[in-house]
Amino acid sequence: MAANDPGQPLHPSTELTDWSRNLPTPASALAIGAHPDDVEFGCGGLLAKWAADGCTVHHLVCTDGSKGTWDADVDVDELAARRQDEQREAARRLAGANAGEVRFLGYVDGELDSGLDARGRVALTIRELRPSVVLGHDPWKRYRLHPDHRHAGLLVCEGIVAARDPHFFREHPVEHHRPDALLLWEADEPDHVEDVTDFVATKLEALEAHQSQFESTMKAVDDAELDEFRARVADRLGLLGAPHSMRAAEVFTLIDDL
Ligand SMILES: [Zn+2]
Repeated sequence: MAANDPGQPLHPSTELTDWSRNLPTPASALAIGAHPDDVEFGCGGLLAKWAADGCTVHHLVCTDGSKGTWDADVDVDELAARRQDEQREAARRLAGANAGEVRFLGYVDGELDSGLDARGRVALTIRELRPSVVLGHDPWKRYRLHPDHRHAGLLVCEGIVAARDPHFFREHPVEHHRPDALLLWEADEPDHVEDVTDFVATKLEALEAHQSQFESTMKAVDDAELDEFRARVADRLGLLGAPHSMRAAEVFTLIDDL
């Protein structure tokens, strides 16, 4: 397996008969990623589908993305600012008029910790934005190397608990909020599938807003390689959909009754 293969897992293990499929479109969704571009890899097709059906799509990015380059001489502050602009553009491409807020916690890339400070800030974001569905990294994915992805996943899960229960972080100036469902992408044992057949192109357009990542993450420094990247993403979504008779799908672990 590759250590840096972002997005969707290829080998779901849960018996197909046990899978749920295609949640009703929620009124609003909040996707929480470690870095700019994680959300688009993890659930860009689904967010585009929901936005097209009226869902307001919010983003929360935990780190500044300042290590996302192979250029050892880069100005990291400039890179972080550029990546915020790219994330805002990606959110606009995904959701159009239904793009909601794009927020940044600003922790240093590579140094994200799932401690109380960050958990409180994630919980506050959930309480302020009041999403029906929250989406994030699966923190329990086996053999995951990048610590930010693991910690961002823990922050999503623990932030929901803190957001929903009134006695956590009582200093918050807003009411507690209990989302209806949590979807974890890059799931270790996915059990939920979403048909994104009509939204592969939108997912790709949003991914391609992250131009600073073309060299390091997309491996797309010229038009031919960009075409190969598009084909890789589309092929993977096709492989994930095939067992469910969908032409393209994104898969998740679904946790509901929160
Ligand atoms: Zn990432």
